[in-house]
Amino acid sequence: MNTIVSLCKRRGFIFQSSDIYGGMNGFWDYGPRGVALKNNIRDVWWHSVVECPPLDKNGNPLRIFGLDSSIIQNPLVWEASGHAGNFSDPMVDCRITKMRYRADQLIAYVPENREGKSFAFFEDEDEKTISSKIKKCGGGKIEDFCRVSFIDLEVSSYKNVVAPDTTEVGTLTEPKAFNLMFETRVGAVVDDSNIAYLRPETAQGIFVNFKNMQDSMRAKIPFGVAQIGKAFRNEVTPRNFIFRSREFEQMELEWFCHESEAAYWQEFWLDQRLNWWKSLGLSADKINIRKHGRDELAHYAKDGNGTVDLEYKFPFSGEGFSELEGIAHRCDYDLSQHQKVSGVKQEHVDQSTNAKFIPHVIEPSSGLTRAVLAVLCNSYVRDDAHPSGFFLNFAPKIAPVKAAILPLQANDEIELIAKKIFLELRKKYAVAYEDKQSVGKRYAKNDEIGTPYCITVDFDSINGGDVTVRDRNSMQQERVNVSLLDAYLRDAL
Ligand code: ATP
Repeated sequence: MNTIVSLCKRRGFIFQSSDIYGGMNGFWDYGPRGVALKNNIRDVWWHSVVECPPLDKNGNPLRIFGLDSSIIQNPLVWEASGHAGNFSDPMVDCRITKMRYRADQLIAYVPENREGKSFAFFEDEDEKTISSKIKKCGGGKIEDFCRVSFIDLEVSSYKNVVAPDTTEVGTLTEPKAFNLMFETRVGAVVDDSNIAYLRPETAQGIFVNFKNMQDSMRAKIPFGVAQIGKAFRNEVTPRNFIFRSREFEQMELEWFCHESEAAYWQEFWLDQRLNWWKSLGLSADKINIRKHGRDELAHYAKDGNGTVDLEYKFPFSGEGFSELEGIAHRCDYDLSQHQKVSGVKQEHVDQSTNAKFIPHVIEPSSGLTRAVLAVLCNSYVRDDAHPSGFFLNFAPKIAPVKAAILPLQANDEIELIAKKIFLELRKKYAVAYEDKQSVGKRYAKNDEIGTPYCITVDFDSINGGDVTVRDRNSMQQERVNVSLLDAYLRDAL
């Protein structure tokens, strides 16, 4: 992870937000390469969900509509959705360090014989660190401990627990619910009646527009509404670079269907979404499908099939995997709640039988910024043969720069051809023109930012009209006529 984090800063992918003021925990800025990568992933999702949705059993495209709802909504939205009451994580504080931890993200090492000190760690802490801390604090050998979820410990045993950032026992408070929504005030008067919230998920903006969608688009179920946008959660422990941030972006689809078909559609979307992640280039063996246990069902999954997560093996995932996307059966929870609280009917009328019912919802909900991290981690390939010893193996369609045009030497004729190629290609593709430094250094830099092709113009190009195209992964070079470069890139992308 450290290698990736420093590469991201050095090569303009991701910076700590408000860097010159020491940053702000859980907030990140996306630099030129980062925003390009993020936008490309966003566009691939939007294309595959909204512009070119999958086909149904009969070969007809599913109907999915796009939406961009506001970030701040009537606070009643969050009352109805349950976020105001339920959107909280159990959290424990350390009285000494003032650190705050999510109890469900900690693990505890408890002595096999239940005597002596126990130790709390972040669930993704590596075994070496755990082992050396236990030894340092006089706990003995790690083999004499069993690993349990911290949340399963009796509160009465906290007096024997050493918190993650201390070496003393008994510093942790009892778990308390902590609401993750950011509050703000709307309007000029500073008054509690003006409190509003930054949305903690994009989904509710879709549910509260269900009726607008039905009415304006004459939508009949099954149909979907999709949205990409910012979400905000005052995470207790933002961690692992951009994986858990306080401001992030989500890509969410709410698929409205009849209850009797919900199980079918959940399987359908699981399959679609799995293939989508693979199409970004994520290695199949690093993706895991995990069905939620009954004890972790969200408040909306009152029955139904619950949630299936798609997970990825990040460098910090240890032996396990970490969530990329949840594909939840939200039942009719959200629409029923909005109907109850707003008093506005959220029903669908079956045209053939005139029966009225509230649709069920299957929700594939993923993180865009988390997708950026997965792609960055997955793309990092070490290879000593490459000038930098590694390259970023982005799928060409999401690479920030598709091709770099490099005049081999400072020569008017060569530069003229190179510029002409650049000015032509930039109309269709994100290409860069680079004439500084040696060509080797320019190759190295482009490997580091994952540019799939380098197009080099040399003396032979002046007469023959051919240029050299270097492939990032294989470093193979081939001569391609300038007139064919457009087609070459089009095929590759
Ligand atoms: P967790 O249990 O890890 O807090 P969650 O199950 O609450 O996550 P959801 O509410 O299902 O997450 O959100 C859907 C998706 O949004 C997640 O799969 C993830 O990709 C993304 N996401 C959620 N929280 C964050 C965050 N703090 N930072 C970045 N992405 C996030």
